[in-house]
Amino acid sequence: MIRLESFVSGRWVAGAGRLATLVNPATEEGIAETSSEGVDFGDALAHGRAAGAALRALTFADRAGVLKAMAKVLHTHREELLDLAQRNGGNTRGDAKFDVDGAIGTLSAYAVTGEQLGARVGDRTFLLDGDAIQLARNPRFVGQHIYTTRPGVAVHINAFNFPAWGTFEKVAVAILAGVPVITKPATATALVTWRAVRLLVESGCMPVGALQLVCGSTGNLLSLLGPQDHLAFTGSNATGSALRSSPGFAQNAVRVAVEADSLNAAVCGPDIEIGGEAWSTLLRNVVQDMTQKTGQKCTAVRRVFLPASHAGAFEEALVDALSGVVVGDPTTDGVTMGPVSTSSQLRDARAGISLLAEGNRVVTGGPAALDGKNAPAGKGYYVRPTVISGANSHTHDLEVFGPCVSLLPYDGTAAGAASAIGAGKGSLVSSFYADDRAWIGEVIAGAAPWLGRMLICGSKVADMATPPGMVLPSMIHGGPGRAGGGEELGGERGLLFYMQKTAVAGDRVVLGKIFGTGE
Ligand code: NAP
Repeated sequence: MIRLESFVSGRWVAGAGRLATLVNPATEEGIAETSSEGVDFGDALAHGRAAGAALRALTFADRAGVLKAMAKVLHTHREELLDLAQRNGGNTRGDAKFDVDGAIGTLSAYAVTGEQLGARVGDRTFLLDGDAIQLARNPRFVGQHIYTTRPGVAVHINAFNFPAWGTFEKVAVAILAGVPVITKPATATALVTWRAVRLLVESGCMPVGALQLVCGSTGNLLSLLGPQDHLAFTGSNATGSALRSSPGFAQNAVRVAVEADSLNAAVCGPDIEIGGEAWSTLLRNVVQDMTQKTGQKCTAVRRVFLPASHAGAFEEALVDALSGVVVGDPTTDGVTMGPVSTSSQLRDARAGISLLAEGNRVVTGGPAALDGKNAPAGKGYYVRPTVISGANSHTHDLEVFGPCVSLLPYDGTAAGAASAIGAGKGSLVSSFYADDRAWIGEVIAGAAPWLGRMLICGSKVADMATPPGMVLPSMIHGGPGRAGGGEELGGERGLLFYMQKTAVAGDRVVLGKIFGTGE
């Protein structure tokens, strides 16, 4: 059994006490164990805060160099990481690549962002927000808004579904902003994160203290955070809400960002030709979101809205596409969808499917138990790809974090589509398949306030559009309402979470020299 240790205060610490067991979800075989009991979180925090000075002293170009080196280390060991992702996450090789390559790609993308920033601002380590503003009759007295790096630590808590990408998309942004990180993966799938951090530490590519790792519980860490520290959380709405309202956070003014769950939607516009380019992309994206990572993506579509004119044809095409899905041990040839990642996921997904099915028609799949191909009988966390037709009181409330969608009618109008989106009370992303410009304009105006990201997929871009389930480093990720209200990535925008905006008023000549804006 592999023993996962935490990397804190510059050393590897094997926790004591009761150990949590990590399993292979395809077979339920134990593969690793861990605990963080005995970790001195106060010391880890002090170590991170002390390391921040050196990180902040690096230019953006220097920090970009660190990210580039990190991406190179992970890329060098890509095959090993893919193998671990398959064993601990129930991933097909494609799913594992989505996670591991997503981590490498985001580190690389932020290295480029850092290089571009460096080319623009040189050795300056803070950012400007807009131009200087004249504040008095005499133009010599001006104001300038600036962003400086907060001298605290970033605690990152991540969900089980993306142990590589989820970890390093956050790490990349924090390090480029100059903030040291203490990262905590979900315990059940921490193997990939642990190995990746081990490889990075062994390579010596990161400044001392820039990245610490907690495997297991965060103990008293969160209660020790102060006004310059950050918590970036990704996970369920329930945990996110509980953490956000921790009494210490309000008292200590800890900066908190929550990326939570989401009832993402896909909307078929009434003008889309059945069988045409945009239609085929809608179908492909729904199938991919249901089956990739076994539907365990925060961005996966959960609700598909169809006008009456398109509903029957879409249902038929979807069932046909899903009939080719082979569920089983993802290391077996021919398997196209693995198990969900944990026993509690299996329980929740099956219970959720039962709730969504109440009073509705189960088109295919359903909550019944399933043996996976090439898995021991009765073992492994397998779920049937499930399509439900119709809504009930759970449809716009309950996120089934697995391979399940609801097909839902709407009246075909842009106002109807926007209102259907809003019923989800705030989502990470939704996609709209339409060519009619008036309809698109109206749907953007009506649905955008409920969404962090929108994909408008018309026939002309259908063959090139990135799938809505794919988070891009250059676009923001996060959503309002139940999606947590957080915001990550988005190129340079992501850095601002770790920086303080300050309005500085003074002598135009003095400030201009310091900010590099003066004559
Ligand atoms: P979860 O149960 O809320 O756990 C998320 C993380 O929080 C884990 O690392 C967990 O650690 C930790 N945690 C739980 N209770 C804690 C506490 N009291 N103090 C400190 N940490 C605590 O969520 P999950 O089951 O891993 O993930 C599935 C959910 O995440 C889904 O709802 C999905 O939509 C959402 N998600 C959202 C995004 C996004 O970007 N918006 C991305 C991915 C997933 P342990 O594992 O050690 O308990």
